[in-house]
Amino acid sequence: MTNVPGIFGSDVFNESVMRERLPKVTYKQLKKTIEDGVPLNIELANVVANAMKDWAVEKGCTHFTHWFQPMTGITAEKHDSFITPADDGHVIMEFSGKELIKGEPDASSFPSGGLRCTFEARGYTAWDPTSYAFIKAGTLCIPTAFCSYGGEALDKKTPLLRSVDAINKATLRILRLFGSDATRVIANAGPEQEYFLIDREMYSHRKDLIFAGRTLFGAPAPKGQELDDHYFGTIKTRVAAYMKDIDEQLWRLGIYAKTKHNEAAPSQHELAPIYNTVNIATDHNQLTMEIMKRTARKHNFKCLLHEKPFEGINGSGKHCNWSLSTNTGVNLLNPGKTPAENAQFLLVLAAIIKAVNKHQDILRACVATAGNDHRLGASEAPPAIISIFLGDELTDILRSIVEGTKYEGKRVEMEIGVDVLPHFTKDTTDRNRTSPFAFTGNKFEFRMPGSRLSVGGPNTVINTIVAEAFDEFAEVLEKADNFQDALDDLIKKTIKENSNIIFNGNGYSDEWCQEAEKRGLLNLRTTPDAIPFFEAPENIAMFEKYGVYTETELHSRVEILLDEYCKTLSIEANTMIDMAKKDILPAVASYIKELASTAELAKTCGADVSFETDMVKRLSELSAKMYKNLGELENAHYAAMGFTDVKEQANFYRDIVIPAMNELRAPADEIESLVGEKYWPYPTYGALLFYVK
Ligand code: ADP
Ligand code: MG
Repeated sequence: MTNVPGIFGSDVFNESVMRERLPKVTYKQLKKTIEDGVPLNIELANVVANAMKDWAVEKGCTHFTHWFQPMTGITAEKHDSFITPADDGHVIMEFSGKELIKGEPDASSFPSGGLRCTFEARGYTAWDPTSYAFIKAGTLCIPTAFCSYGGEALDKKTPLLRSVDAINKATLRILRLFGSDATRVIANAGPEQEYFLIDREMYSHRKDLIFAGRTLFGAPAPKGQELDDHYFGTIKTRVAAYMKDIDEQLWRLGIYAKTKHNEAAPSQHELAPIYNTVNIATDHNQLTMEIMKRTARKHNFKCLLHEKPFEGINGSGKHCNWSLSTNTGVNLLNPGKTPAENAQFLLVLAAIIKAVNKHQDILRACVATAGNDHRLGASEAPPAIISIFLGDELTDILRSIVEGTKYEGKRVEMEIGVDVLPHFTKDTTDRNRTSPFAFTGNKFEFRMPGSRLSVGGPNTVINTIVAEAFDEFAEVLEKADNFQDALDDLIKKTIKENSNIIFNGNGYSDEWCQEAEKRGLLNLRTTPDAIPFFEAPENIAMFEKYGVYTETELHSRVEILLDEYCKTLSIEANTMIDMAKKDILPAVASYIKELASTAELAKTCGADVSFETDMVKRLSELSAKMYKNLGELENAHYAAMGFTDVKEQANFYRDIVIPAMNELRAPADEIESLVGEKYWPYPTYGALLFYVK
């Protein structure tokens, strides 16, 4: 059995290693940097670097790397060894403060959305001392931010760190009004990671999974997820071994891997860690995804992190749980025993409601990708419409505030009808799985992010929009003659003005779409609809005010994200064209040939050949249709390549290329359901999803 406390964090240069290995003064100074953002000096960095290197070398490391998170959404690393030539032809192992603090990767190939032309390709990585260094495969990894020569953020971490600062300052301003002695406010995140595991051998026969990460063709299997027998079901031995392997690796890296279970779709699973600061949680989630993918190979699995690998069954999301706490240990989203009287909680809640309502557009935009468009709005994930679920108790409390009536509700004792079980107080909220932004007792759960997304973006947005609402509140309250009255008015006014965003019903229903439209809520169905909102004047103003993104950085994000959308669809279209031409049409042709010659032979024996004849006719019709639609997709794709304006191009992919892809898929999937299994060139949905032992 693994000694979990013994291995936990053993590959991390964490608090206890620092305390043990750094001189007392250095340790204290470093802690000040980590906790209060006091700038580092080079002498301090030299001492820390040397201690890090000694520790890493003792653990078998030969290299170090600045580990960063460019706009590709995955992580990047460039390894340098510690070797330095010594006079006598030998080498010594060295690592300087300069190397720790700053790196200069030639970064011209990372997406920059026009922020960095190749002639000034320099990018800098800068040490983020608030996320611990760690060891991965014999390399000391230093978490870093990644910026251009001009200081523009080229990554997901820099804006996140800036937003951490913004939410800290704005929340403290509010807390001061309530007489709190907190000196720091921390935004926390707990991202629940969903994923699919399929057999590696079968995967290797699917071009679509290899190139696009999702199936582009595929008839439904005889069984899907209709029996709900996979959710929380017994975990198969091979999957369990994989999960155990992952847990151990994550624990070594100081990641609080906590919950694992089978998810709703066949072959779908989830891993959830205990929450952490948004910065560390984001780093840890990136590492988790990487380890999931890498470890799958060892167990002969392929781990699919795509948001929608299979049509007709659930896709994968990454529920991002978010809360605010103080360095005095208070969770500001905890309603307490009597939320109606907890004015501070109600003010925080009002600010979040206001922020989410005002910035529906960027909340939607920050989760927009080509893959996630298949999830949002399908009845498995929240719709593309942003709304807030509060549960009955909080909604009633807010209603009584607005109406000026006394809240009479009491917390309900749950009667569960089994006497041996203890009675427990019902949660303030029941579970509504259909809401994109749900209050779940002492945190909000943002359910729209797709499984592949870095949670850096969503957390940056949530931190910033809430910071803005807090500041607006502070402006009013700081000026008030009577704090209590001003507070009551403010909560009342805010709830009244923003109640249109609160919805406790079924977000999957059609009625909700109609109701949301009546309420004037945005419904940004696709990525090209959503992304441009990053450039809306009020959003630019807000992000600039908080120093989270400059206007230039926002334009670059729009460029990068839309370009990624177009490229993703271009790869998908290419892959479909390739599969249709080289595999599917030839396969159906062989089957038709087989049927036709069988019919001919059988006829000479006087046999009934209605099956063969009907099938030949039907398959020929379908393959002719496929062939025609293939031509149309080729034309559409060719036309898409001709655009120079990325917004127009993205719209063209959405309006013309995607429908053409769907038109090609439909006859192909029907053919799959008719063709003899041994003729079909790919493992079927049934095999991919159900055959894994
Ligand atoms: P469920 O699937 O029922 O929503 P899980 O246990 O799978 O719940 O995941 C809940 C996630 O929420 C975990 O990652 C957990 O650490 C996180 N979480 C719990 N409390 C907080 C909090 N105060 N702030 C942020 N995240 C939290
Ligand atoms: Mg969960």
